[in-house]
Amino acid sequence: MQKIPVAILGATGVVGQKLIELLISHPWFEIKKLAASERSVGKSFIEAIENPINFDLPQNLANMKVSSCDFEDKIPLAFSALDSKVATEIESNFLGKGTHVISNAKNFRMQSDVPLLIPGVNSEHLPLIESQKSLGKIINNPNCAVAGLALALKPIHKMFGLKKVIVTTMQALSGAGNKGPSAYAALNNILPHIHGEEEKVEQEPKKILGQLLNNQILPLNCKISAQCNRVPVLNGHFMSVSVELEKPATQSSILFAFDAFNKKASKLPSSPQNALTYFENLNMPQPKIHQNIDKGMSVSIGKLRRCSCLDFKFNLLLNNLVLGAAGGALLNAEALLNRYPELFMSPEVAINY
Ligand code: NAP
Repeated sequence: MQKIPVAILGATGVVGQKLIELLISHPWFEIKKLAASERSVGKSFIEAIENPINFDLPQNLANMKVSSCDFEDKIPLAFSALDSKVATEIESNFLGKGTHVISNAKNFRMQSDVPLLIPGVNSEHLPLIESQKSLGKIINNPNCAVAGLALALKPIHKMFGLKKVIVTTMQALSGAGNKGPSAYAALNNILPHIHGEEEKVEQEPKKILGQLLNNQILPLNCKISAQCNRVPVLNGHFMSVSVELEKPATQSSILFAFDAFNKKASKLPSSPQNALTYFENLNMPQPKIHQNIDKGMSVSIGKLRRCSCLDFKFNLLLNNLVLGAAGGALLNAEALLNRYPELFMSPEVAINY
């Protein structure tokens, strides 16, 4: 199969760089454009990055000139890792030109015709794109903490029904991107406010775990309470979760639900072997050790036990830059191409490369 040419919008940011790392050897997609702000335009990519994440960058990409986000060439697919302040306008321009957009930014996540997608959790929401009026179609991946939370909650909800969720997050510094807190503010400290994060963690899982009825999402009827904190961990969001259930459960029946969920996982190039990895050892998972399980695409869970206020509680860890951002976006692009290959063959989406 000829690879699909792709652009990365916001390529110089933390998520943009992780997208590049994951796309270098991707079997279906090939990077043709790297775009960012005026600060970076015209520089070689290697000169433009302010906070390099550590990976082997091939020469052709290191030397590729960074474009502005209004470049003229038509391209069938763009991954957006844009700052949310500019994502609405730039992503809309690409959709108007017939480019399909897979976005990490929050801007279109709650729009009714945009799938907030995690393949394997709510793949049935993907046909929402058929209601979109634009020539290009857009899929969003969720907030990074939500990506892990929704994956863990899905099998529990499916088997026992969710009534209430209480979650306290301990989120890594990489989740804040290039403009995150300074080392002086973050180290040896806990920052108890992440702007807008608690709202996203309380709202987005209800859309993801909602039901598709007459081409609309009926949100999950469940109370979610979130407290989000920034902690001095470089990468890997950790959280403690308590759940109240509709039906009686035991520890082993919940573990059985996790196992059954793993067996039904989607099989796309970026899918993990196991969407959920359970640790019997009470001292696990830990961000430093377990963030890259299944190439960063698996959610690690531990300490599942009875809760004295709600029904059960557990800890959870996900790689916020991979599953929570770049890897999640790649999986969504694969799901789109797998289900709607014709979208990439339309003569309107002419490929100039
Ligand atoms: P980041 O490190 O701050 O990167 C932001 C990117 O946006 C940079 O490439 C920047 O380019 C570009 N940009 C800023 N202003 C622009 C403008 N006026 N025109 C064009 N490009 C512009 O942020 P990030 O952490 O990678 O996050 C990217 C997006 O993903 C955000 O919307 C974020 O909320 C979301 N997200 C992040 C994570 C995470 O774990 N970090 C997880 C899930 C979702 P310059 O370098 O040239 O300024």
